[in-house]
Amino acid sequence: MSTEAKFGTNVAINGSRLWDSLMEMAKIGATPKGGVCRLALTDLDKQSRDLFVRWCEDAGCTITVDAIGNIFARRPGRNNALPPILMGSHLDSQPTGGKFDGVYGVLAGLEVVRTLNDLNYQTEAPIEVVAWTNEEGSRFAPAMVASGVFAGTFDLEYGLSRKDLDGKTMGEELARIGYAGDAPIRGRDLGAYFEAHIEQGPILEAEDKTIGVVTDCQGQRWYEVTFTGQEAHAGPTPMSRRRDALLGAARVVDAVNRIGLEHAPLACATVGLMQIHPNSRNVIPGRVFFTVDFRHPDDAVLAEMDAKLRNAVTRVAQEIGLETEFEQIWYYAPVKFDAGCVDAVRGAVAELGYSNRDMVSGAGHDACYLARVTPTSMIFIPCVDGISHNEIEHAHPEWCEAGCNVLLRAVVAKADAT
Ligand SMILES: [Zn+2]
Repeated sequence: MSTEAKFGTNVAINGSRLWDSLMEMAKIGATPKGGVCRLALTDLDKQSRDLFVRWCEDAGCTITVDAIGNIFARRPGRNNALPPILMGSHLDSQPTGGKFDGVYGVLAGLEVVRTLNDLNYQTEAPIEVVAWTNEEGSRFAPAMVASGVFAGTFDLEYGLSRKDLDGKTMGEELARIGYAGDAPIRGRDLGAYFEAHIEQGPILEAEDKTIGVVTDCQGQRWYEVTFTGQEAHAGPTPMSRRRDALLGAARVVDAVNRIGLEHAPLACATVGLMQIHPNSRNVIPGRVFFTVDFRHPDDAVLAEMDAKLRNAVTRVAQEIGLETEFEQIWYYAPVKFDAGCVDAVRGAVAELGYSNRDMVSGAGHDACYLARVTPTSMIFIPCVDGISHNEIEHAHPEWCEAGCNVLLRAVVAKADAT
């Protein structure tokens, strides 16, 4: 029996309730420019978790929290021996984050639960809404570390020992905010995972499409580089005798950009974080730490970019006489989403008659790790001008509503497909 037959064409989520919840959650960590700053495992993150938990409990869900702080809100099915269908995303944000990145997928999941409650509709398999810890990787690198632990890519000790720039670990901070849970990491089967998310790029809006059916996730490599030269007085030290670590970093920034351009249009190459020591205007920088972020959907190209970066770092260090510490701190191969889950999304989109296109995810998402342990796919909605990781990030209410309607149908189709 299709979901359409069970639901009828009129069944829909409550778009204004979803919108109101998004706006209510956005008050936690609200910034003057209309965005959100809710870094992982801060007091503000705790507040957003508490609100999410309260809303889920109000909707009749049972809450469990695992040892890395992932929150699961379970709505029982008719047959609770069946593995649950998961949906969700993350509640943490970038320092200059928006109201939609991550939180949309979590609250869309909650809205699916609320809608099923309104309909008094019980799915065959149980369904769960999940909020993954520290997706952004801004306070604690790498990104998606807790879904990575969940998927077995990282071990738990690795996840808990990630440090912020002040030396505080994820484990300490989880305990401090009361979200070091006791549920085992996984240890149970899952039926499927669906993640609704804003596109964070310009394609859907530019093509006037409402839904992105996400078929792939691109691969990523993250690096940390430290150049060490020698601090010296900016006045008496002749140019020819300098070992300027920042000059080295600047040359690598340029090389990174060239590597990205050489593999356009699909490659992305970014230096986004840099720390200069001693960071004083009349001292030649003696030490610079910086990061590199490479992305491409083709693993072979990503490997080529890696080789070019290593060459550039070696060459620049020789030119200037710098010592180098170079580490690839994170890698994952491109991911293909599950055909059955992608079909469930396609089927929902077709029933609803939304304009759509297939997409490769340019950003990393928790779904990229979940795909390793359970059938997974994603649903994209547009965001205005493709802007994300920015306080002006915006998605129109009708887009949010449409994506959630797709999520509802895809999840129910999977939960009832037994
Ligand atoms: Zn996100």
